Amino acid sequence: MSQYILRLDDASDYMDVKKWQRMEELLDQYGIKPLVGVIPDNLDSSLTDTYEQDPEFWDKTARWKEKGWELALHGCYHKYTTKEGGINPVNQRSEFAGVPLDKQKEMIRHGVDVLKGHDIEPKVFFAPSHIFDENTLVALKEESDIRIISDTIANDVYFENDFYFIPQQSRRVRKLPFKVCTFCYHPNMMKDEDFEELEIFLKGRHSNFASVQDMKLKERPISNFVRVLHTIYFEKRR
Ligand SMILES: [Zn+2]
Repeated sequence: MSQYILRLDDASDYMDVKKWQRMEELLDQYGIKPLVGVIPDNLDSSLTDTYEQDPEFWDKTARWKEKGWELALHGCYHKYTTKEGGINPVNQRSEFAGVPLDKQKEMIRHGVDVLKGHDIEPKVFFAPSHIFDENTLVALKEESDIRIISDTIANDVYFENDFYFIPQQSRRVRKLPFKVCTFCYHPNMMKDEDFEELEIFLKGRHSNFASVQDMKLKERPISNFVRVLHTIYFEKRR
């Protein structure tokens, strides 16, 4: 039986507060503790020009933390500056991949500082558009305590280069033949039918959902099967 993680991207002081509220109420109803990507210093005009700044945002993160939600570092400014695919090339735009190490370290340091200023000690990282490179891992290692990455194509968690990689395979809930599945939602973009589909799935399978905190992460190396999977999957996209 699969273990599911619900991941919510793009929480920040510029977000659709009504949809995030709806999501929170839905998850509370089923006792789900999601993994939430918090943008520390949002300079992404597609978000800052769309939503009013929410003065209560950091009170919300405090409440989520209290509920046991896992608050992850999601980029720094959430601005795409390169057209690189990095080591998880599911897209070709990035805030990190291809950026010099010094600059990446500066962004990680700044992002972590902002979160710590709001009493959040991030343990998990995922990059905007899922894209990062080897230097991102070096920057995380040198500038933070983060050793968990949410984003890879795999059937289970693996451990490589001192990091745990939790797979993230789908943008909506569905049954998949993997040991660990992360479903990645962007609440800002969700429509009524997305909430309805999620609710139906949660109703039947809420007991399969785990929080990252409750997962027993083991230092299991990447399997040959996953290496082959990466070669095929990423070759197809290049
Ligand atoms: Zn994002």
